[in-house]
Amino acid sequence: MSGNVKRIGVLTSGGDAPGMNAAIRAAVRAGISHGCEMIGIEGGYCGLMDGVMREMSLRSVSDIISKGGTILRTARSKEFSTEAGLLRAKNMVDIFRLDAILVIGGDGSFRGARDLARLGVKVMGVPATIDNDIGCTDYTIGYDTALNTVKDAIDKIKDTAYSHERCSIIEVMGRDAGYIAINSAIADGAEVAILPEKEFDLNNDVIIPIINCRNRGKKDYIIVVAEGATDSMWLAEQIKEKLDIKPTVSILGYIQRGGSPTVRDRVTASLMSVKAIDMLCNGECNKVMAQKGDKIVAIDIEEALQMKKCIDSEVIDAMQILSL
Ligand code: ATP
Repeated sequence: MSGNVKRIGVLTSGGDAPGMNAAIRAAVRAGISHGCEMIGIEGGYCGLMDGVMREMSLRSVSDIISKGGTILRTARSKEFSTEAGLLRAKNMVDIFRLDAILVIGGDGSFRGARDLARLGVKVMGVPATIDNDIGCTDYTIGYDTALNTVKDAIDKIKDTAYSHERCSIIEVMGRDAGYIAINSAIADGAEVAILPEKEFDLNNDVIIPIINCRNRGKKDYIIVVAEGATDSMWLAEQIKEKLDIKPTVSILGYIQRGGSPTVRDRVTASLMSVKAIDMLCNGECNKVMAQKGDKIVAIDIEEALQMKKCIDSEVIDAMQILSL
């Protein structure tokens, strides 16, 4: 054991993502291999404020790598974002003698970790969210599994859309980020992808492409909509009104959050957690793990929270070419 870190708390926060369990497992095993006590904090920052914690052993993380969700449960807490909530959390860090906390979650969770760091708590972040919308990292844990879940669902909807010559609108998650929408649209050969990143024009983006497809003899159309881009039910009404086609609307919803994580999510989660714990045990703190190309790197948490990313315009252009 090195540095002053002997007891490490682990929590999952924000939306759950497949691969969070792999990240917890790797953190516990890495910490114990460094001679640390590993403390599981239940229900994200709610559990931290309330002191809902338990020691985790090697056995306690057996057989969880293939499971979706998070064995530590997760939560969103408005109270934690207040000064009183933050102080309550800091108080529990002292009562439970936690030397550091590993936060597994999205950028909101990292903002919370940054606030703890400003109070003197040592923190590390591991990015896990199905939206892939954290600026500092090319990839977030859970994204690949969610994308594959969406791909499977659209494959099935496509079979029936073809048979019945239907227009199908499929709404996927992504309030501010269209990564799931654009990549599932490419993977499934959709005619249209509507993204929060791109201004939406009903005629140019939907009506004219459908007319063009129809004039070429195509009778089934797939439109993928990111939830934050437009209202799918409204879109269906507009298509019915303008083209006399009655689209079906499938809102995939929470199915995208669940399921056994893919190899990519299990491996990324494992490597990121091992690196985060190694760094804590070697005296470093207040960093976020990030994937840059095929490397996992650590970025200062304040700097990481300033970083932005957006979908490559070449990917959007490629989608348009492929949908011809
Ligand atoms: P996802 O991307 O899956 O939604 P997330 O980590 O971004 O994950 P949030 O709900 O935004 O999810 O954040 C999780 C929790 O982190 C919040 O409930 C809150 O307690 C804390 N948090 C969020 N934003 C802040 C902030 N600006 N300052 C302090 N704490 C925050």
